[in-house]
Amino acid sequence: EAQRYDVVVIGSGGAGLAAAIQASDEGASVLIIEKMSTIGGNTIKASVGMNAAETRFQKLKGIVDSKQQFYQETLKGGNFKNNTQLLNRFVEQAPLAVEWLAERGIELNDITITGGMSIDRTHRPADGSAVGGFLISGLVKNINKRNIDLMLDTSVSEILYADGAVSGVRVINEDQEQLTIISKSVIVASGGFSANSAMVVKYRPELAGFVTTNHQGATGGGIALLEAIGAATVDMGEIQIHPTVEQQTSYLISESIRGGGAILVNQQGERFFNEMETRDKVSAAIIGLAEKYAYIVFDEQVRLKNKAADEYLARGFVVSASSPQGLAAELNIDAATLQQTLTRYNGFVADQCDPDFGRKTALRQPISQGPFYAIRIAPGVHHTMGGVVTNEDSAVLDAQNQLIPGAFAAGEVVGGLHGSNRIGGNAVADIIIFGIQAGSHAAKYARR
Ligand code: ADP
Repeated sequence: EAQRYDVVVIGSGGAGLAAAIQASDEGASVLIIEKMSTIGGNTIKASVGMNAAETRFQKLKGIVDSKQQFYQETLKGGNFKNNTQLLNRFVEQAPLAVEWLAERGIELNDITITGGMSIDRTHRPADGSAVGGFLISGLVKNINKRNIDLMLDTSVSEILYADGAVSGVRVINEDQEQLTIISKSVIVASGGFSANSAMVVKYRPELAGFVTTNHQGATGGGIALLEAIGAATVDMGEIQIHPTVEQQTSYLISESIRGGGAILVNQQGERFFNEMETRDKVSAAIIGLAEKYAYIVFDEQVRLKNKAADEYLARGFVVSASSPQGLAAELNIDAATLQQTLTRYNGFVADQCDPDFGRKTALRQPISQGPFYAIRIAPGVHHTMGGVVTNEDSAVLDAQNQLIPGAFAAGEVVGGLHGSNRIGGNAVADIIIFGIQAGSHAAKYARR
């Protein structure tokens, strides 16, 4: 006898967990299926935060923001290729999604900024921890409280389709048994394909040999599952490389370090670009250097504000010294040049104006208090902007823009929202906003 559910969710990242919680809160019976042996997907690795404009937490800090400006900056950051229907829904729902989390005990009430944004709107945990672990542990508590069923080590191999609608899934469980699960709707929240190098290189040959920041489950299988029942795809070649990745370990160095006041210098000890530009442009600038890597340089004041910095120290990524001269010696950089770079940058902080590279944001405080720190970084494959096509209600569409009854998708598996470059902090917003929506619409569909 096959198990039956109103809603089956494929994937236990942020999108899948949010969808499952919302569907359950609307009365649906829900099963989450996760192919890996742990919960959290790539979301658990998210570092910086969740973008939203016009939130209660911004108001509490006296930050004046507007949804309109958030929309415009995301569109510009995406090089005007974003799906504007999705983007409209995204900026509208973002402050509500921040509250949805807060109501469920997940408060993101500290705020910073990421590249391409002009206002502090990246919501983070107040304890300075990375957003991903904080989010997943909070969501898992909510899953447990609701007794939502979850299968780990179980991979969906097929979405079943009968009489013009989704009817369930075929899975392979940890004992290699094939099972059928019957459901009225399916939410695909299976993430992106950054860890599938063959698929990345198929769309972007020049990315051969690049490391990836993603967990090994980010293989894009969910896209094929939906294509098999007729789903259309969009923007598959839009693949983001993140500028600051530690290359020996493929570990992402959070944008919150630059957002907290760090700079990038080359092997000559000079700044070479606006550190707060969008990821595509900063990555291109680093690849354009003769050495094809750079250093993130910061001081004790930045470290004290950001727990991630201590993690990088513990992991051995960070070179430190009590003086800029000492740091230069460690990095084999000319000491006078590095000192000059810092003095000049500190002057820009005082003036709140960077005539060299036009950095306008996160000119927070001078880099002046030892110890001084540097991490060597280069770009890595980080996010796949392309994916399946959905409407703004997270319903999956076919090539004729027709609904595929019972099929919903949310998170990185969906294409279009981010255009050709995703802004830092917009992926966490994406998965929560559209996860909630997918859960709500799938629950409504199931009881129609
Ligand atoms: P998002 O950020 O969009 O929520 P994540 O990468 O955080 O995406 O989570 C997606 C999850 O889906 C991962 O944990 C991944 O292992 C899981 N997954 C992907 N494909 C399948 C599949 N075919 N069956 C079950 N789980 C899957």
